Amino acid sequence: MKISGRGYNVEKYIDLHTHSTYSDGVYPPGDIVAMAAQKGLLAIALADHDSISGIDEAQVAGVKYGVEIVPAIEFSTCYKDFRDIHLLGYFIDHKDPELARNLEKFRERRDNRARAIVEKINARLEVENKDKISYEEVQAIGQHVISRLHIARILVNNGSVKSVHDAFKRYLVPCDVPKQYFPIAEALAEIRRLKGIAVLAHPQSITNDRSVLKTLIREFAGFGLDGIEVFNNLCYKDDMLFLESLAREFGLLITGGSDFHGFEDDVEIGCGSGGLAIAYHWLEAMRCRAGENKVDV
Ligand code: AMP
Ligand code: MN
Ligand code: MN
Ligand code: MN
Repeated sequence: MKISGRGYNVEKYIDLHTHSTYSDGVYPPGDIVAMAAQKGLLAIALADHDSISGIDEAQVAGVKYGVEIVPAIEFSTCYKDFRDIHLLGYFIDHKDPELARNLEKFRERRDNRARAIVEKINARLEVENKDKISYEEVQAIGQHVISRLHIARILVNNGSVKSVHDAFKRYLVPCDVPKQYFPIAEALAEIRRLKGIAVLAHPQSITNDRSVLKTLIREFAGFGLDGIEVFNNLCYKDDMLFLESLAREFGLLITGGSDFHGFEDDVEIGCGSGGLAIAYHWLEAMRCRAGENKVDV
C-alpha cells in the first residue's frame, strides 16, 4: 500500500524549561500543563529553581490533559570565577529523600538572602523618597522558593519601577546578595546520583564570549554534562547554530525550552518570545541517554 506523504512531516513540539508558583513562576503547575495542552505541546518539563515540589501536581494534570511531564529541576551553580551558571536536571528521581533535605537547606538560605536584599533595596528607596517594600509582601507571592523575580514583581506592583527589567537594572542587580551556589561538579554528581541527565541552561547567560563558552562547555562535558540548551530565549539563530556545533563536537545532547515564568507578556510557553519550536525527537534522545545513565551508575 502506498503511504500518503501528508502527515509524514507533521512534527510535534515540546517545552523543556518552565517555572511554576513552586519557584518564581506566576502559574501553578496545573495551569501550565493546561496552557501546554492548549498549544498542542506533546511534553513539557517543570524545572523550578531548587524545587521539585510542583512535579507531582504537574504529572496529575499531565494525565488529565494528555501532556507528558518530564520531572526536572534548575540549580544555580558556580565554577571558578563564574557565578549563577544554571544547570537543569531532567528525568531525576524527584522523590529522593536526600534531595528533599538538601533543597530545604537551599530554601532557607534563599529566605535569608531575600531578607538581606529587601533591606538593601529599602535603604536605596528611602534615599529616593519612595515607598519601602516588606519581606512579608515578597513571601506572600513567593511561597515556596523565593527568587529575586518575586522582589522585582513587588517593585513593579508598588510603582517604584515600570517593568521587571527596570527592577533588575535599578535595584536587583545593584543590591544583589549572592545566593548559595552549588559547585558545578557537585551539582552534576547530584543529578547523576538522582539518575537524571544534566543540561546547561541558556549558556549565553554565562558569557557572550564564544571562545570562553567553548572552553567552559568542554570542561563541563569532562565532568559529566549530558547536554546543552541550544534552543533558548537568550539566543539569536546564529548563537543556536554555534551551540549546536559545540553539542556535536563534544557529544552532548541538544535540548530547548522557553524558560516560561508567566509574567512576561511576550514569552509564551512553547514558542518563547516567538521563534522557538522544539521538536519532540530531542526528548527521545534525552530519554535514551537517561536510560543509559541509569544502567552505568
Ligand atoms: P535568583 O535565583 O533569586 O537570583 O533570581 C534569578 C531569577 O530572576 C531568574 O531565574 C530569572 O527568572 C529572573 N531574572 C534574572 N535577571 C533578570 C532580568 N534582567 N530580567 C528579568 N528577570 C530576571
Ligand atoms: Mn527564574
Ligand atoms: Mn535559568
Ligand atoms: Mn529557568
